[in-house]
Amino acid sequence: MKAVKISFADKYPDLVSEWSDRNEMEPDHISYGSNKKVWWKGSCGHEWEAIVKNRGTGHGCPICSSNLIIPGVNDFKSRHPELMPEWSEKNTLDPSTIGEFANRTAIWRCRSGHEWKARIADRSKGHGCKKCADIAATKPENHIPKKKRIPLRNFSYTFMRQIPKASILYYLDKACEKYRINDDSIIGIPIKLYLPDKKTAIEFYKPHGNIGISYTEEWVKNDLCRRNHINMIRLLEKKCKAFDNCICLTYEGYSLEIMDILIKKVFALIRIEADMDIIRDIFNIALLWEQSYKDM
Ligand SMILES: [Zn+2]
Ligand SMILES: [Zn+2]
Repeated sequence: MKAVKISFADKYPDLVSEWSDRNEMEPDHISYGSNKKVWWKGSCGHEWEAIVKNRGTGHGCPICSSNLIIPGVNDFKSRHPELMPEWSEKNTLDPSTIGEFANRTAIWRCRSGHEWKARIADRSKGHGCKKCADIAATKPENHIPKKKRIPLRNFSYTFMRQIPKASILYYLDKACEKYRINDDSIIGIPIKLYLPDKKTAIEFYKPHGNIGISYTEEWVKNDLCRRNHINMIRLLEKKCKAFDNCICLTYEGYSLEIMDILIKKVFALIRIEADMDIIRDIFNIALLWEQSYKDM
């Protein structure tokens, strides 16, 4: 075989392991700048064809990057079977020929019969039916209204705003349930409160602003949780903007009655039984907050 000046193997020794066995040629017998198409097998396990020259210039697995759609492997239909019931029959697109982050718009129909148009990429990121989200947000059971308030004169405003978190920690401890705080090892960014045995994340208050970076970050967090099959529950003060890709419990005011309803609702959602009564336990909750939870 004709000797080559600088072979692919010379120039890119790190990529030799991705040279597929399907190729008759060896990587040390082909120039690194060759325009020949050869087979590659990525560490991801996918196999694809690409021009030798392009491999060296940083092109990686096109299947992982969705530049190449293989039906049954990385097409929208295979990646998101859970969304297929909402794929409208009116679409002329074939969902098994497009990637999950395609920019194209499709028609969707939710279980409640609402029809809307949305980008495929947005659906993959977790955006759902807006009408359903609006209805859920206004449902009486997801909205804890202002009620006759038991005044909290003995507590500071700072503590009052922490009552949801403080009470949840207090009752989790009582129920001997494991939890982690601000742990970033689960999805790569910190989760305020994570219950490993329930695969559930709980976030509080945020975001205060209507739009902005924090809101986007929180949206990404929801999406990462969904991808990792983690349930996300958000406890939001009434002025906070709600999300449509997690469970949002919106509350108004800080009376103990409201907090009691709110926390009982959280525990019902995560299916943890505890003897809960915030009105009875508030002084213990406050004490433990001061002693151990405050800096969490
Ligand atoms: Zn791949
Ligand atoms: Zn709907």
